[in-house]
Amino acid sequence: MAQKPSLTYSILTLRCPKCREGKLFSNPNFYNLKTISKMPEKCPVCSLEFNPEPGFYWGAMYVSYAISVGISLITFLIMYLIWGWLTWQFIITNAIILLALIPLTFRYARCIYLYIVLAFESNSKPTP
Ligand SMILES: [Zn+2]
Repeated sequence: MAQKPSLTYSILTLRCPKCREGKLFSNPNFYNLKTISKMPEKCPVCSLEFNPEPGFYWGAMYVSYAISVGISLITFLIMYLIWGWLTWQFIITNAIILLALIPLTFRYARCIYLYIVLAFESNSKPTP
């Protein structure tokens, strides 16, 4: 069997956490808001369930929050280092950047959350 792609590459390309080949989202276009959350029920390659229980992705909100804080910190550092302390300019620029990146934050939060949950589940199972 061919070697699995790296963890970083699999997350960046939104692949299944188990086989790292099947795509997590049906439509590759992030900015098609009608299909932004559309995922196949199971991985087309390894049949891993992408939606194990109703409301599963509520937990992804925490990941989404962490990503947003990270983006805000980077925006702040860039603006602070270039222009110094600019409170209102930062708040407005950061809001625009965060709003524009909502589709990316949404999908990557779901993807990372699924990776985290799967990592914990596979660690808690007894080894054969
Ligand atoms: Zn898979």
